[in-house]
Amino acid sequence: DLNRLSGDIQLIVDGKRLDGRGFDELRPINIKVGVLKRADGSCYLEMGKNKVVAAVYGPREVHPRHLADPVKAVVRYRYSMAPFSVEERKRPGPDRRSIEISKVSREAIEAVVMKELFPRSGIDVFVEVLQADAGTRTACLNAASVALVDAGVPMRGLISSVAVAKVDDILVLDPMKEEDNYGQADIPFAFFIRNDKIESIALLQMDGRVSRDEFKQALEMAKKGAMEIYQMQKEAIKAKYMIESEEVNSDE
Ligand code: UDP
Repeated sequence: DLNRLSGDIQLIVDGKRLDGRGFDELRPINIKVGVLKRADGSCYLEMGKNKVVAAVYGPREVHPRHLADPVKAVVRYRYSMAPFSVEERKRPGPDRRSIEISKVSREAIEAVVMKELFPRSGIDVFVEVLQADAGTRTACLNAASVALVDAGVPMRGLISSVAVAKVDDILVLDPMKEEDNYGQADIPFAFFIRNDKIESIALLQMDGRVSRDEFKQALEMAKKGAMEIYQMQKEAIKAKYMIESEEVNSDE
């Protein structure tokens, strides 16, 4: 958050975070797959007070045509915040922040999508923030990656994303708004995970300052958090698949 306020606010009280979480504890996550009828794939995801929805279209013909790539699919990613998603009304439409988030998120997603299978086509990912409480880019990436699976887009793995913050000289996982605003550093991570194994870092950003040791610790904390998110993403996908296969069976 570029509007970081230098902090008189105490964020750790009696060894606890303001919302009662442990330092390495995620906010509650809730994932629903296939919530939109008109998208090829979709996902609604809550990460604490964040509420986001992702819609995927494609692979399909690219418009305008000249943007098509003869050897692979073109991936587009649009991050957008609803005017009512934040405390002070967000002016609708793209701004510098959302353009930057869209770019780095697209690059993360491109690490897992098997683009080479779909020359000349386009895969469009739209993510909408309905309610924001810090970490919206991470929540959106988690939703986008599930929506891509729901769309049947062939993927090398999943993207699982979470931030680590430094508050009152302590590293905390998945910071909420107060920790993001008044903390000393904020480091969003996204990992490419395949077969329960972290293959690579697909996104890494940072504002504020941490020491080399703190950064190493932050990375370990983020990896652990991302693995928990990965399991929940897999569960959500499985849950939808099982309901559908039961429906098919009961039709027989
Ligand atoms: N935020 C806001 N208005 C804005 C942009 C951000 O109130 O125009 C809030 C919102 O809660 C967001 C948080 O600031 O989640 C942190 O924003 P940041 O730019 O760090 O991105 P995020 O952490 O959401 O990925």
